Amino acid sequence: MSLLHSLLEFLRVLLEIGILWVFYYWFLVFFQGTMAVQVLGGIVVLALIFMVSALLHLQVLTWLFTKVATVVAVAFIVIFHPELRRGLARIGGEAIFRLNPRQEQVVEEIVKGVLALSRQRIGAILAIERQTPLRPYMETGVMMEAAISSELLQTIFMPNTPLHDGGVVISQGRLTAAACLFPLSENTRLSKTLGTRHRAAVGLSEETDAAVIVVSEETGIVSLAAKGELTRGIDREKLAQLLYEVAGTKPRMTHAAPSAPQAGVPG
Ligand code: ATP
Ligand code: MG
Repeated sequence: MSLLHSLLEFLRVLLEIGILWVFYYWFLVFFQGTMAVQVLGGIVVLALIFMVSALLHLQVLTWLFTKVATVVAVAFIVIFHPELRRGLARIGGEAIFRLNPRQEQVVEEIVKGVLALSRQRIGAILAIERQTPLRPYMETGVMMEAAISSELLQTIFMPNTPLHDGGVVISQGRLTAAACLFPLSENTRLSKTLGTRHRAAVGLSEETDAAVIVVSEETGIVSLAAKGELTRGIDREKLAQLLYEVAGTKPRMTHAAPSAPQAGVPG
């Protein structure tokens, strides 16, 4: 009888630890790639100490941790507010896009357009606005305020047309300007084989938080510049994922225009 009792008790503890680990893993996914991960590691250690002190009835320690925990929780929310918001957007992402055909359509059109440009070896550069306003860069080009379509993107970058030179700016799900000039990066670590198009993409991503997509005219390779780093060889999935992330941090993207219902987005 007591053996069975011990066994049940053991299973109960095991279950509890299992659930805690799932939560921990889930948290890591939530804050993936951010400073918050390191901090979370520290918090988990503190939580373990707290659990041990509670189990052993170390009253002073438990009392101290209860007080500190409240402060830590508030500080965490304040300090990591951007990460929390992004994490929630990532988790809520699926549901939001299911409800927002318009957002799916924008992503789909950009992905389609970029891949078509890449196939045809048409050079292109698309800056997607996040939190930093790209208005100053829009003003170096031609203001447009157009709904985004794959066809429009291909037409804009068609060689020997008035708007093909320079980049487009996408803001809140609209194509707001074309033929814009972006600042060239001075980064000496960039490959010497990269010309001004790629340097302009990296340059803009150094000066703003924009995500900049580049299609190479020479190779058709699609690259992404973000935070001053250039990632080459972006495929369809990565591109769509990136665009959904950007949309997640900028939900206003959905309010840009009224829309008709639209079929789901792949990937
Ligand atoms: P690709 O692989 O397509 O050849 P690249 O990095 O080698 O790209 P260039 O060959 O120098 O770059 O591409 C020149 C084109 O890049 C220009 O015609 C223009 O459309 C675009 N570009 C150049 N400078 C800028 C800039 N400052 N802002 C936006 N676009 C620019
Ligand atoms: Mg070139």
